[in-house]
Amino acid sequence: MTERRLGAHAIVIGSGIAGLCAAQVLCGYFDKVTIIERGTEPPDKQPRKEVPQGYHLHALLKGGEQALEQLFPGIVEAMVKDGSTRINGSQHLKWFHHGVWKKRFEGDIFVQLQSRPFLEKHIRCLVEQNDNLNIRYNTVAIDPILDEKQNTIIGVHAQEAASSETINLYADLIIDGSGYGSRFHQWFGMNKYDVPEEKVKIDLCYVSQTYQLNDGERDWETLLVYPSAPIDKIGGSVCRIEGDRHIFTLFGYDSELGDSRIKEARNFIELTRKLPQLTIYKELEGAKPLSEIKIHKVPYMVRHHYEKARSLPQRFLFIGDALCRFDPVFGQGMSVAAMEALALNDCLKREWLETKGISNRLTKRVYRKMSKVIDPVWKMIIIEDFRYPHVAGKKPLGLTLLQWYTRRIYHRSSQDTDVYNAFIHVMNLLCPVHTLFSPSILYKVLRRGR
Ligand SMILES: Cc1cc2nc3c(=O)[nH]c(=O)nc-3n(C[C@H](O)[C@H](O)[C@H](O)COP(=O)(O)OP(=O)(O)OC[C@H]3O[C@@H](n4cnc5c(N)ncnc54)[C@H](O)[C@@H]3O)c2cc1C
Repeated sequence: MTERRLGAHAIVIGSGIAGLCAAQVLCGYFDKVTIIERGTEPPDKQPRKEVPQGYHLHALLKGGEQALEQLFPGIVEAMVKDGSTRINGSQHLKWFHHGVWKKRFEGDIFVQLQSRPFLEKHIRCLVEQNDNLNIRYNTVAIDPILDEKQNTIIGVHAQEAASSETINLYADLIIDGSGYGSRFHQWFGMNKYDVPEEKVKIDLCYVSQTYQLNDGERDWETLLVYPSAPIDKIGGSVCRIEGDRHIFTLFGYDSELGDSRIKEARNFIELTRKLPQLTIYKELEGAKPLSEIKIHKVPYMVRHHYEKARSLPQRFLFIGDALCRFDPVFGQGMSVAAMEALALNDCLKREWLETKGISNRLTKRVYRKMSKVIDPVWKMIIIEDFRYPHVAGKKPLGLTLLQWYTRRIYHRSSQDTDVYNAFIHVMNLLCPVHTLFSPSILYKVLRRGR
């Protein structure tokens, strides 16, 4: 039996990063935890068709790595042993941003480079070590089972691939980690739960291919060439992953990429010539393709404000992309998912300390705590995205001033170690955004000079 028992059974929908992290937390509080996954048991370290974004670059920020390490002690060491590369985040990252190259220096942030399937595989292996965990593959969660009298969700209807019959799975707590396409929001809408939703249209497209680079000396492990918004719309990156391979990714806003012509490798190479710097184009010349070209479209970011809903049924929670889908260019989704799982853990621990069971306060508490994780990340991203005139949605207060100030930070980051260091700590979710407004950083950012 678990040390802090809150119930007999918990269900997690989806075995992506968010679902696996949530399951790890729940295993500490429930006799039995079941993950329902619509896909088959995943191939070893290969992308899965149910998670098509897995073919593209997936950066794990330091804040996310620390959250994962808290959830799965030893995971970082295990990944390094298995082939992920540990780099100094300010020295081995070569980054062209807002028209300038960032200053390179040996800082105190070390991060891991690997592919998304590699990371997911490591997380899954560690979750599977829980004796009370069971993963039901080939099973699709369809909709919740509601106990109307109690206003509580007590289970889900599900369907196994091999049969057309619907099965009822009951649980004391259900977490939906089924990604941005979660079908469960619709159920909430149809059942008159009024949940505010914020959408920002970005029309982003990713194009990626894995390569083996030609031999040669390089002074970087990750190369980023970001567009200078609003003039440039295409950015790109080259990132080392396990197996001495590199993922090349191009991303374009305002539907600038995504044309079927990109599928022809020649055009992929030609498109890299449109980047603000030719560094990536030069790396591609002579590199050997190891995979097909993959395309992924992200038409909008969306945030479901469950923390603002007046009434909600008890014992059902969203996590990860199902709760908030970000613009992935900033590489925050997986890190936020892991941090949300820690928020869930804090709330469950409190339930146990206060009542030794699940109270009606849990739902609101979890959403409030998760929204504190999401808020600063969402704001940082939309400040950047709204530099493009085609981006549509609710703009934050003081947008013009914030865009002016952050652009100065980016420019100063090419010359000033302290400013860049403060920025990468915020970007890696290690420090709060207000760090960038501390008197010493304000002084350096606002000072006149080139
Ligand atoms: C192109 C692209 C690039 C990205 N780059 C980065 C990056 O660099 N860094 C970063 O941190 N994040 C990145 N992200 C975001 C990241 O992929 C997600 O935020 C993160 O993986 C969390 O996703 P998730 O677990 O919530 O959902 P997913 O990873 O989408 O997993 C959902 C799971 O639920 C299952 N499922 C769905 N519906 C059902 C159902 N009804 N029943 C049962 N199972 C179901 C699916 O099969 C899947 O396994 C990127 C995203 C995209 C699109």
